[in-house]
Amino acid sequence: MHSPPQNPHDLSRHDLPGILATIEDEVRARFDAREGKVADYIPALASVPRERFGMAIATLDGDVYSVGDAQVPFSIQSISKVHTLTLALDAAGDALWKRVGREPSGDPFNSLVQLEHECGIPRNPFINAGALVVADVLLSHYDDPEAALLAFMRERSGNAEVGRDEEIWTSERRSGYRNIALANFIRSFGNIENEVDAVLDLYFFQCALRMNCVDLARSVRYLAGRGVCPGTGTRVTSIERSTRINAVMMTCGTYDAAGEFAFHVGLPAKSGVGGGIVAVVPNVLSLCVWSPPLDDKGNSLLGAYALHRFTRMTGLSVF
Ligand code: GLU
Repeated sequence: MHSPPQNPHDLSRHDLPGILATIEDEVRARFDAREGKVADYIPALASVPRERFGMAIATLDGDVYSVGDAQVPFSIQSISKVHTLTLALDAAGDALWKRVGREPSGDPFNSLVQLEHECGIPRNPFINAGALVVADVLLSHYDDPEAALLAFMRERSGNAEVGRDEEIWTSERRSGYRNIALANFIRSFGNIENEVDAVLDLYFFQCALRMNCVDLARSVRYLAGRGVCPGTGTRVTSIERSTRINAVMMTCGTYDAAGEFAFHVGLPAKSGVGGGIVAVVPNVLSLCVWSPPLDDKGNSLLGAYALHRFTRMTGLSVF
């Protein structure tokens, strides 16, 4: 039915609403109430209904297509690491890469083990350790980094209602023992400059933002647009940085499964334990999918399947 056209980048050749409807049908048919596990190590996440499914596409031409629960807000969790990395690169420039690497870690996202050997320099900005250093950079740069991040998210998504989920924030602030350990450990090596509590507050704030699939797809359109947000024409970041953020998403954006993701999906992507995944087709579009049950690596099980089907049906992978 949906075989990829010769030139997949020409969107007029795709029936995007039809493709989304087909993916939704396939995903709902595959839904198995026993498969995958909704994250519960943050207690407030455990109560999210597991059968939710939404998907949205935002094209560089300004069109938005969506299906299912694409308008239902959820906890964006680690997807926020893309946006904070963008702001931190703007604030610190390439000097940021002296404090955070850009190699896959090969370890779980909240692991402490590498930090000991690598003297408090996290492997990449998308594991928790790296995101804590990025949060530290934002704290040093902005008088009110929470307000700066919120303004960025609202502007990029076009939704002035984006805000923090109090219950998730409190839940994680109380139970985020690993992140508390990570921040203290990094600080002991001198790679966190600000008070550990302030860094953690900002990190938990970014994770507790509530957005829906449409907001999130729109929020990363600048990464499809070579750093420029279509519509407003605002330059969000340089061409070089947007290319590099996409590269780090491809190699490190889906926890310890980035190889599998490149193999099956073939797009730069960033997932979060709330069950959302954003992905970018450079020069064409950005998208977001949401389904709460996670696989054993922490990626949305059906979200990954939906993206795999999207690239198979459209031919829009980077490879
Ligand atoms: N707030 C979560 C944590 O730090 C984010 C994890 C994620 O989405 O990858 O554990």
